[in-house]
Amino acid sequence: MKPALIVHGGAWDIPDEAVEACNAGCHRALTAGWSHLARGGSALDAVEVAIMVLEDDPVFDAGYGSHLTLDGRVECDAIIMNGATLRSGAAATLQRVKNPIQLARKILESCPHMMLVAEGAERFAKENGIKLCKPEELVSEAEQEAWMKCKVDKHAAEHHRGHEQGTVGAVAIDRNGHLFAATSTGGTCCKLPGRVGDSPLIGCGCYADYEAGGVSCTGYGEAIMKIVMAKTAVDLLRRPATCVDPSQAADNCNLSTADLAAREAIHLLGKRTHATGGLILLDRLGNPAFAFNTPRMAYGYVAPDGSFITSV
Ligand code: ASP
Repeated sequence: MKPALIVHGGAWDIPDEAVEACNAGCHRALTAGWSHLARGGSALDAVEVAIMVLEDDPVFDAGYGSHLTLDGRVECDAIIMNGATLRSGAAATLQRVKNPIQLARKILESCPHMMLVAEGAERFAKENGIKLCKPEELVSEAEQEAWMKCKVDKHAAEHHRGHEQGTVGAVAIDRNGHLFAATSTGGTCCKLPGRVGDSPLIGCGCYADYEAGGVSCTGYGEAIMKIVMAKTAVDLLRRPATCVDPSQAADNCNLSTADLAAREAIHLLGKRTHATGGLILLDRLGNPAFAFNTPRMAYGYVAPDGSFITSV
């Protein structure tokens, strides 16, 4: 089977000055993931390395440079899901794991449970060879400054370089037809300590079923959870393309099932929760699609001719 890869760096009001960095970050993530897939490597390795690149890049809200909680700490969440077994590995409220996606993978592969949180998750990380970092090592200067502004003023998106979001995600299919999806986030800025959004929750921020496709979501977590958006989008891939948004019927009816499923899930998010967000997906054949109802979304995918398409 032909491998496929799609990544995202969040759907938000990305300011002009961040566009280049977001594009470059998505391009680097594609390069890292595709270097595995193109030479017959696994989709699991591909989503893990792609996400690690995005986690290490402070322009995105995951790993280093994540938004801070009300208490001024980073608390990260991540998930990886296997489309063949329907098993996921997820971790939440991590304060001392540099690359949360590595821990999600360890949980997927070597833990009897599918999700661990807080100290228990960090203990499992340490016992399984993942070195813990100091909480401060995850705090970027820009987010520290934003947090200080929120402290003296009031929490405002503008303080956070114009963004409240910036979660990252990846979906890949390898030569053997294995499908994996993954999502990693620092959550929303100035969130209450202990808050967990959609991102690490199976079916909400991520879902994969090789019979239909794989999805990674981003946006306002409390709303995405309400419509179980990742699972909803995967289920939309199971049926022939139909238009759910009558106002868009004329434009949408020539779209592929993949494009329509992405749009319909985002349409549902707006209609039922009035919230904003975005998603990326691969259908079971590897066709990429994306949709968002925010001003911009950072994303990238590998085109059929092997070239990298990135856009913000
Ligand atoms: N969905 C994430 C959360 O609510 C935020 C984001 O996507 O940027 O934690």
